[in-house]
Amino acid sequence: MIKRTYDGAQRSVLLPAMEAQGLRPNQKLGQNFLVDPNMADAIVAAAGDLSDKQVIEIGPGAGALTVRLLEKAAQVTAVELDAGLFRLLSQHVPQAQLIHEDALKIDWSAVIGNRPVAAVANLPYYITTPLLFRLLQETKADPLVLMMQKEVVGRLCASPGGKEYGALSVMVQYGAEVETVLTVPPQCFYPVPKVDSAVVRIRRRPPQTPAGDEAWFETVVHACFKQRRKTLLNNLSALLGRDKARDVLAKTGIAENSRAEQLSIAQFVSLTNASKA
Ligand code: SAM
Repeated sequence: MIKRTYDGAQRSVLLPAMEAQGLRPNQKLGQNFLVDPNMADAIVAAAGDLSDKQVIEIGPGAGALTVRLLEKAAQVTAVELDAGLFRLLSQHVPQAQLIHEDALKIDWSAVIGNRPVAAVANLPYYITTPLLFRLLQETKADPLVLMMQKEVVGRLCASPGGKEYGALSVMVQYGAEVETVLTVPPQCFYPVPKVDSAVVRIRRRPPQTPAGDEAWFETVVHACFKQRRKTLLNNLSALLGRDKARDVLAKTGIAENSRAEQLSIAQFVSLTNASKA
């Protein structure tokens, strides 16, 4: 746990630090830097006690969150793709374990040690979903406190019955409690993005209704949401064939003309187990 001498969340610090390295924000890499120290504090606070944890951060940028994480965590591992920002971080935040790599390609097992792991990051929005699934499937990070587009946070937290509820909501809520902890206005960033942002906290827990085969669960959920305007019978028929789809719906007591967005996670599990048999 290390005291900070540099604060990348302050505009008056970030701009000269970037200029000194000849850097400008690269839109293609989703570079909108958090320039609000209070918001950066609140994001790190949302992760709770990190004193025994290795925190993994994706896209540390100019270190707005990294310097705060270093003060609270046992270890900080930050993966940054941009060579210029990696240079900047090496100069200003050398206490972190800095890795110059694509977070979509990194082998997490090679960088994660023996401590419990948490993930805290202001994600690059253009790859939010694949990054989220890599973190969930390839690490045991818990909690995950992640800033992303507000619209995606809405989908992650959605309940059955609404337009936002989809495969993403089901897959994540199956094994975790998911909640919005902060909404972050565009003015908190440099440059100001065109979209609204929010911070989600994901806390793992055992599935409330476990599926017998989780890979098949994922296949079934995606098939059910494949064409949202179609009935469940039609979507399931594309996966199972008409007769089997009818049979599975009858066995689980789910109406043929219902839509995927109306089903609870327990009902998706029933469909999974009944269709596997
Ligand atoms: N954490 C900083 C902050 O809060 O100000 C920067 C966040 S910015 C939204 C996203 C960061 O992710 C940028 O630093 C960008 O260079 C980095 N990035 C983009 N694609 C990446 C990838 N595939 N792997 C690792 N970092 C990536």
